[in-house]
Amino acid sequence: MENLSHPAWIEIDLGQFRKNIEAIRRKIGASLLCFPIKANAYGHGLVPMGQAAARCGVDMIAVSCLREGVELRKGNVACPILVFGAIHEREIDDLIDYGLEFSISSRFKAELVARKCKGRKCRVHIEVDTGMHRTGMRPETAYEVFLELKRQECFEIRGIYSHLATADEPNHSFAFAQIEAFTRLRQKIEDEGVLWHLANSGGVSFYPTSYFDMVRPGLLCYGLVPNGSKDPEIRPFFSLKARISYFKVVEAGRGISYGHLYTTEQQTRIVTVPVGYGDGYCRSLTNRASVLIRGQRYKAAGRICMDQLMVDIGTSEAYVGEVVTLIGQDGGEEISIWDLSSLTESDPREILCRFNERIPRLYS
Ligand SMILES: *Cc1c(COP(=O)(O)O)cnc(C)c1O
Repeated sequence: MENLSHPAWIEIDLGQFRKNIEAIRRKIGASLLCFPIKANAYGHGLVPMGQAAARCGVDMIAVSCLREGVELRKGNVACPILVFGAIHEREIDDLIDYGLEFSISSRFKAELVARKCKGRKCRVHIEVDTGMHRTGMRPETAYEVFLELKRQECFEIRGIYSHLATADEPNHSFAFAQIEAFTRLRQKIEDEGVLWHLANSGGVSFYPTSYFDMVRPGLLCYGLVPNGSKDPEIRPFFSLKARISYFKVVEAGRGISYGHLYTTEQQTRIVTVPVGYGDGYCRSLTNRASVLIRGQRYKAAGRICMDQLMVDIGTSEAYVGEVVTLIGQDGGEEISIWDLSSLTESDPREILCRFNERIPRLYS
């Protein structure tokens, strides 16, 4: 996005992104790295993150749907791109013509592709359901479909993959069961040229036996370990900042914002910050969020509005135009994406991908 002047912005530190990628590489050894950038790259910006990932030499990028893949191709991202989502008949021509790799998640979809390919080569990944029960074929069906695709000219089977349902928690017995089911299918198929991939961020963080030929960590590449623990080499690189847009003094006993959910205890200073739920800063953070100003932590006061929120700074000083940190570090203090997801009983992925295009992203 153009760097328009806007009172709020998201800072993306691509240097830290590169460090995360390097740390994950060290962890996974010889396995290849596929970087999921669905949902606007977890809010980090689809095309800029695709380009940054290509510069960092990731082996593959994954998106959720055709549109995301096309946007990346139009942004000159040339590396292999895998579309995770279940494909629709109408999308097959574009998937092939934009050079996207895609999932074969049922025999029916395989037949559709065979009918529509008209001599063009289709690079596909066979999706196996080992227990997520979202998309993908049972292992027995996947085995048969593998043999069927092998016999057809138009298919290049690039990969066989499955998805872990419970790997965000270490030592979960179901994750081990899925790894085992996947391993059994691999022993049965024994094809040298196919990439076997299973691990998401949880897999990479807690299940080394899930690495196979390629891993697909999303959250971890964005610097967050799935169970909230810390990895000294991996850090988030997404900060949300804004400039104070208004300052006033309010007497004791006055209600602030819609519904007056916050009442001043004494005469106090209230500053207004031009960020709201219309930007993706959750309304459910009302009376829960805090922000950093001059390295100090302050409570957001009352209802988060669509475009603004208020902060009670008590007797502290802060001027219009000063920088407020809503996510990130200021001085010794930090507000993490985990803080916001715990306050709203959400997940860090949801917190991130809620931030929409109204707030410009600045890359450094
Ligand atoms: C989203 C997704 C991932 C990445 O998930 P994280 O938990 O963020 O690492 C990996 N594989 C598939 C199929 C996905 O849909």
